[in-house]
Amino acid sequence: MAHHAAASALARSHFGTSVFVRAVVEVSNYCRENCHYCGMRRDNRTLTRYRARLDSLAELILHHRPSWVTDINFQAGEDPVATRELVLPLVRLLRQETQLGLSVCLGTLSRDLTQELRDAGASLYIIKFETADPDQYRRLEAPGTQTERESHIRWLAAEGWKVSSGFIAGLPGDTVHQALRNLRYATSLPLSGCSVSPFIPGEATPLAQTSAAELDLTLNCMAALRRLRPDWVIPAVSALNLTGADDGYRRGLRTGANLCTVNLTPEPVRGDYLLYKRDRFIMNAERILAAIDAEGLQPSQQSLAQFLAADPASVAA
Ligand code: SF4
Repeated sequence: MAHHAAASALARSHFGTSVFVRAVVEVSNYCRENCHYCGMRRDNRTLTRYRARLDSLAELILHHRPSWVTDINFQAGEDPVATRELVLPLVRLLRQETQLGLSVCLGTLSRDLTQELRDAGASLYIIKFETADPDQYRRLEAPGTQTERESHIRWLAAEGWKVSSGFIAGLPGDTVHQALRNLRYATSLPLSGCSVSPFIPGEATPLAQTSAAELDLTLNCMAALRRLRPDWVIPAVSALNLTGADDGYRRGLRTGANLCTVNLTPEPVRGDYLLYKRDRFIMNAERILAAIDAEGLQPSQQSLAQFLAADPASVAA
């Protein structure tokens, strides 16, 4: 489709044939929030909760990560205990021992704890706005209020973090008007990147019986985002393969995405990181490399963190 091809051409002219490859480590599935679209919400009593072990994560990342991974993202439910006991020491360790770019996706933490993460060496904060509609945000019990979320995003950017956000395409009841509103809202924020995740009805959530988003809607939003912001980092999310199409992920790479995420979460706990379903589509190293190669792309040798630190255009107004 011409819209997708135009988005892809913009990504290639801005970033060449390189895509950033970041590893995600899901350190904890405890969460104090209760978002209706997420299986890790606090009211889900059927989920076995875990916090990973510091020593095994350190061993895994230091000695067993793929050589072509340039960045690590630590992700968890909103769990300040895991942030303090696991993420902070790991960020400190990796800052000392490696050149890896360090990202975090840990929810709305206190300003002090957030500052400690920055001082320890993390530079990119991923915090999704989920929906631009404040009423929908409230109905979905997303964290705090939408106004607070936006204030936090703006505060992070003002404190020197590079910030990446994201929204969910095709939430139940959404119209095209809502998609446009999400796109407009995203571009009003001080971001370096933004994801578009297709809505997937999560197991053990209030939305379990609703329908997943159409893949085409998600790809159209990704393409529009790329055309609005040629310089942004836009990931291909693994959930693109949960919309019923086996080639969803690769189609994301064909629609202006320039970031892939390889999952490094230890296997025994991966199934409990229940964003949507236990039967997750895990983007492991083989799948990532195969998708990148099949689309005529290659892993970037420059880390995402280095790129963002060097690119003045990434500091949006
Ligand atoms: S989306 Fe994030 S904050 Fe919301 S319930 Fe899930 S893990 Fe918690």
